[in-house]
Amino acid sequence: MAEYKSDLLIIGSGPAGYTAGIYAARAGVKSLIVAGAQKGGQLIKSSEVENFPGFTEVISGYDLMHRIHKQAMNLGVHLIDDEITEVDFYDHPFVCSSASGNSFMSKSIIIATGASVNWLGLPSERKYIGHGVSSCATCDGFFYKGKEVAVVGGGNSALEQALYLTNYVEKVYLIHRRHSFNAEHALQKRLFENRKITIFWNNVVDEIVGTEEPLEVTGIRIRNVKSDKKKFLDVAGVFVAIGHHPNTEMFRRYLQLDAGGYIITKPKSNATDIKGVYAAGDVCNPYRQAIIAAGCGARAALEAIREL
Ligand SMILES: Cc1cc2nc3c(=O)[nH]c(=O)nc-3n(C[C@H](O)[C@H](O)[C@H](O)COP(=O)(O)OP(=O)(O)OC[C@H]3O[C@@H](n4cnc5c(N)ncnc54)[C@H](O)[C@@H]3O)c2cc1C
Repeated sequence: MAEYKSDLLIIGSGPAGYTAGIYAARAGVKSLIVAGAQKGGQLIKSSEVENFPGFTEVISGYDLMHRIHKQAMNLGVHLIDDEITEVDFYDHPFVCSSASGNSFMSKSIIIATGASVNWLGLPSERKYIGHGVSSCATCDGFFYKGKEVAVVGGGNSALEQALYLTNYVEKVYLIHRRHSFNAEHALQKRLFENRKITIFWNNVVDEIVGTEEPLEVTGIRIRNVKSDKKKFLDVAGVFVAIGHHPNTEMFRRYLQLDAGGYIITKPKSNATDIKGVYAAGDVCNPYRQAIIAAGCGARAALEAIREL
């Protein structure tokens, strides 16, 4: 158990948190990043990033975040592997406590806790998470070499995961509850051209089926929402890619959230209603893009530095 004191505490180590840390370090501010359970943020799950400026070749999300991490470390950013579990924004300096029992006292705070996966919410899904149910094709796709798998969703993430999986698996069934995708045109084109992918439009997953010992997925029951026709698919893995929600629950009692759970910041600013508390990245904007998160992190840091 330790007590940390800083002028700026940054909660989260995705593009927003690291960028805020880089700006704070360059300004000579005594700052600290608490990395959270997913060091590097969501992007470490992405196999291909094509839209982050500065790279002429496609770069993996893991490599991009590794570079950003290295840049931050070279600039002397202080990073702690821990997770904030409680915040107190009523007193100043603010106090946060962590999963490891550490306490963090800081004059200002940047919340950069990003977003987390939405699961389907089926009891059978919960049972098999980590045993055939995954949210990350780049992390787990390799384990399904030569097998058949399903991907659930119809946005960029679902299509990206389906395409990535075709590098390993025999067949990908893409289950989407609507009749069109909400994904970038270029991704859709690549998907339609890929013979390993079969799309089940207007279908939902009713149940994930598997064995007890060992705990393993063996298939899914899907249902057409228009015709009510049911079908069983023999798959060894299910990749759930139906979106994300902002990680803002811990801040709900202190800060204003919008209907989607995003932290509301002041117009043209990353400041919240509480002086000294800022929000940056996917916690406060629904665009969910790394470059936007990084830009927000920079602005939040500049605003915090100005106020210190
Ligand atoms: C599969 C996939 C592919 C993507 N591809 C692209 C792409 O090609 N281009 C693009 O621009 N964007 C892409 N994105 C979106 C991009 O990853 C996000 O917009 C971006 O990572 C948001 O950055 P962030 O810093 O706001 O939050 P995140 O990256 O979500 O990082 C949040 C951080 O907060 C930490 N954290 C959470 N709770 C706590 C806590 N209680 N205490 C301490 N730390 C905490 C986490 O550990 C994590 O480090 C993709 C996302 C996914 C999932």
